[in-house]
Amino acid sequence: PAPVLEASNLRKEFPVRGKFFGPSLAVHAVEDASVALRPGRATALVGESGSGKTTVARMLARIYNPTSGAISFRGEPIKLSKSASALRKYRRHVQLIFQDPFSSLNPVHNIRYHLARPLKIFDHARTEREITEQVLALLRRVSLSPAEQFIEKYPHQLSGGQRQRVAIARALAVRPEVLLADEPVSMLDVSIRLDILNLLLRLKDEEGLAFLFITHDIASARYFAEDTLVMYAGQTVEGGPSDEIIQEPKHPYTQLLLSAAPDPDRIHAGAQSTELTARGEIPSLITPPTGCRFHPRCPHAMPVCKERFPGRTDLGNGHWTNCFLYGAGVGQSKTDAAQSA
Ligand code: SF4
Repeated sequence: PAPVLEASNLRKEFPVRGKFFGPSLAVHAVEDASVALRPGRATALVGESGSGKTTVARMLARIYNPTSGAISFRGEPIKLSKSASALRKYRRHVQLIFQDPFSSLNPVHNIRYHLARPLKIFDHARTEREITEQVLALLRRVSLSPAEQFIEKYPHQLSGGQRQRVAIARALAVRPEVLLADEPVSMLDVSIRLDILNLLLRLKDEEGLAFLFITHDIASARYFAEDTLVMYAGQTVEGGPSDEIIQEPKHPYTQLLLSAAPDPDRIHAGAQSTELTARGEIPSLITPPTGCRFHPRCPHAMPVCKERFPGRTDLGNGHWTNCFLYGAGVGQSKTDAAQSA
């Protein structure tokens, strides 16, 4: 299917202020990220902490405005204006679930309030009776039962997993076409992570949602997402069908991530990748490396890698990578790359 939400060449800089920094310094959090989300499919956005995954999700949710780049919804370019009515229209279709279920709900309001609010704002229910019926139906869809008991509870009376289910129900209340989930289980007890992930996947299948699942664990990505997108230091470096990326990773960074991932036989939602620090760390995003940002850690780096960011090379079957090892890329001929090497 055609992508419902597509973003290309997203870039985001955050100005840095303070007496030790000059006025023109910036954190180059995302330099070149492209994402395509299709209905009924999950995409795992994978990378170490500091790779820019959350910033990308927040740009897709329009919490951050991109410094440059383009976003389109159902093939129509989105005007990146921050007018309240434009944002509200956009969020009718695209919802974000946050990592922390403990701070995403307001402690002074009960669950009914949290779910009734989006129903009212987006005009999906008007009378009190309609609202109650829809809130109960939402609670049942996220398997919080008996729904009649949960509706009057307050966030402090719920476990972390139950709060995350309420946050998912709140996102569904808007009837979105795209659901973005930023490490939705990383703050939950290991024993319930799989339940929440399975709930999200069931909803994706039942509702035909385009689903972006952010994680630092590439090994578990294949179990939860048809497609995988790998990010390094603000750049998307490889994407395509998850099975193909896990079995035949092309980009040297994807290969490194997989070599540090847990044994496939032990993979479950609670498994953590081993730390990659022994092989280097994500570079400073205030003064990032030039060209391919992975070149200081890459065993195959060539002189051209320091000069330019490689364009995308299509490897067939929807699999692509940004790496000079696999051909020309935009603005870079094969001969140039070979000569520079
Ligand atoms: Fe390594 Fe160069 Fe490929 Fe970057 S472009 S991953 S430095 S070979």
